[in-house]
Amino acid sequence: MWNKDIEAIDRKDLEALQLKRLKRALELASGTSFYGKVFRDNKVDVSKITTLEHLKDLPFTVKNDLRLSYPDGMMAVPKSEVVRMHASSGTTGKSTVIFYSQKDISEWADLVARSMVATGTSKNDIFQNMMGYGLFTGGLGLHYGAERLGCMVIPSSTGNTLRQIQLMEDFFTTVIHITPSYALHLAEEIHKQGIDPRDLPVKKAYLGAEPYSEATRDKIEEQWGIDAYNSYGMSEMNGPGVAFECTEKAGMHLWEDFYIIEVINPETQEVLPDGEAGELVLTHINREAMPIFRYRTRDLTRIIPEPCACGRIHKRIERIKGRTDDMFIIGGVNVFPSQIESVLMKVPEVGNNYQIVLDREENLDKIIIKVELYSKMFQGDLKELEKLRKKIVEELRALIVVNPRIELHEPGSLPASLGKAVRVIDNRKL
Ligand code: ADP
Ligand code: ZN
Repeated sequence: MWNKDIEAIDRKDLEALQLKRLKRALELASGTSFYGKVFRDNKVDVSKITTLEHLKDLPFTVKNDLRLSYPDGMMAVPKSEVVRMHASSGTTGKSTVIFYSQKDISEWADLVARSMVATGTSKNDIFQNMMGYGLFTGGLGLHYGAERLGCMVIPSSTGNTLRQIQLMEDFFTTVIHITPSYALHLAEEIHKQGIDPRDLPVKKAYLGAEPYSEATRDKIEEQWGIDAYNSYGMSEMNGPGVAFECTEKAGMHLWEDFYIIEVINPETQEVLPDGEAGELVLTHINREAMPIFRYRTRDLTRIIPEPCACGRIHKRIERIKGRTDDMFIIGGVNVFPSQIESVLMKVPEVGNNYQIVLDREENLDKIIIKVELYSKMFQGDLKELEKLRKKIVEELRALIVVNPRIELHEPGSLPASLGKAVRVIDNRKL
């Protein structure tokens, strides 16, 4: 372990630490224009928050609150103490901005180093970081953590596929950080160069930044001949390093000395007991430049109540099933893209990319699923393809009531993703 005192701490001691940090975070936040007003409006007296249970007295914070407080309504230290900002992609409106002090940056690096050690990575590893550098947290977040651990870091960022391959070969990259959709795309590009990804020195990948299924993890592990670990985070909670799988690969440890976890029913907002599935709500209790309380992540998961065999006591969350805002309703049935992905990726003939298009025709919902196949499938006869198409429709029937239209495409013909993949195109909203 990177820090056994904290990772294997007694729960009682952990809770005492959480309470101490929560109180300090509340004090800091009271001085901000945003939380100052929230606490006044909701008659929250922070001096009365004396147990962790009292957290429930605070209102939730949602994405829109961060927009309302733009640019610095949540900044809790003097501007001169802030050393960095990041921002989320801003695909759904004005971007949201996060601030960090020197201490925050340093402790974040520590969390990431801790996460990497949990997967067996050490200073002897060569770490190629294929996530975007810049305002997005994926690049710099892992970068500083890997340096803290002592790895040699190759900050290759996204794209420039040929150079990625060359760097992996020439510098003997052992660990990569990459989105699952780009990992699949890159594997294809590597094959095009006449190289089998399995022959590269890479042994391990950190996959995150977007929801993906267990079937996709299996596929990436198989194509690359590596171990792939699930990595979870979001800019509101720093970025990557919020929760990470250990070598048990059975759920992600969410680092509770930094975050208080709640899972709620997204409709009623009621807090659910450990083990029940719902929306993850996180409180950042250890970031002085910008505390955030009860942030509704919109990510759906559940806490795994059983202790982990690795000895770390921090609670694990299950693979994210999807985001509340990713879910679409087709023919009256709620569907997450990851459910469709899970079915597709288990079909051996299906290649590395797919896209879901929703449409409406004569007031009826229509779903078109475009699927890339491996090229060898297009060398056989058409009857085989038709058989496969029918098979995929059959497999999906259990999930979607509306008859899906399946389109089979050659590899590389659907838009490739370098960062977060766009899986669903909903033309019904237009
Ligand atoms: P946004 O996408 O809102 O601009 P971020 O770039 O911070 O903000 O992305 C955070 C989101 O990415 C998470 O809330 C979650 O939905 C998704 N995400 C990150 N890591 C994972 C993961 N390992 N599995 C599933 N979803 C993930
Ligand atoms: Zn573990």
